[in-house]
Amino acid sequence: MSHRTHISRLAPSPTGALHLGNAYAFLINWALAQQNGWGLVLRIDDLDGPRTKKGADELAIKDLEWLGLDWAGLPYYQSDNLRGYSSALDELKSDGMIYPCACSRKQIEQVQAAPHGNEHELRYPGTCRPFSTSGFLTPPASKSIAWRLIVPEQPVEFDDQVHGHQVINIQKEVGDFVVSTKEGLPAYQLAVVVDDFKQRVSHIVRGDDLLSSTGRQILIYRTLGLSPLPRYYHLPIVCGPDGRRLAKRHGDSRVASYREKGISPFRVVGLIAFWCRITEQRQLMSASEFAEKFRLELVPHHRITFSYKDEQWLCG
Ligand code: GLU
Repeated sequence: MSHRTHISRLAPSPTGALHLGNAYAFLINWALAQQNGWGLVLRIDDLDGPRTKKGADELAIKDLEWLGLDWAGLPYYQSDNLRGYSSALDELKSDGMIYPCACSRKQIEQVQAAPHGNEHELRYPGTCRPFSTSGFLTPPASKSIAWRLIVPEQPVEFDDQVHGHQVINIQKEVGDFVVSTKEGLPAYQLAVVVDDFKQRVSHIVRGDDLLSSTGRQILIYRTLGLSPLPRYYHLPIVCGPDGRRLAKRHGDSRVASYREKGISPFRVVGLIAFWCRITEQRQLMSASEFAEKFRLELVPHHRITFSYKDEQWLCG
């Protein structure tokens, strides 16, 4: 990999089976890597403790290979690389940029003034934030302590390659956010930054449901003094007919279920090509043909709907 100056990564979370929305983002990521000569690595984001499912990593690898994707080297597991996260945390601690917090979700909910943007995320009101940055390095004598990053009032700005200029007010959206969980594990935001930097990831392609996380990740990059920042490509996500992110509630759209039914991967790739406006009709397509024909400019900027017709096409 060392001869490559541009590197991207496929980073599935083994919390369940890959569905069509994941296949779409990974296929585009792979196609962009092919077109631009980026190196591509596979990273298994397996730190999400209770949600991680045994065997989901192997299944994801099988699904990606079935679709026709490949990458360099062996998969990298976050859980095998815990040391990098703890040294980043030590650095943030000694710089006085994080503080311990024992607040429960319930306590945070109680002080929450009004619901805000993201239904799943609560804004942390700063209850445990120290008045000065000295003297808080010894956490209170309670078992479960999370660590939160001190988030400035100024928004984070960056240019997304799909959605253009972004201004994200993290303090307003989520407040001081968790970088180390009560279970003593690095939070997703920190782990991603440590690994992307360590793996020299220069191009990040993923669903635009992660746009607001990108603000947090850039803030961590800056707080740790890491550079250069990666370039970001946030793709419109695939939704069910009700306009919500494609998930189990919309029926079985797992890549594995099509594979197990004996459906050709060219059907799945062909559907994604149709979503990306490479073709006007759904037609069979290989991953390499997709990579030849894919144009980022053609991808719609609004959410993609997995329709009944799409489903009929997949089932032949
Ligand atoms: N593993 C994350 C997910 O599947 C994506 C991580 C990332 O792209 O930063 O949602």
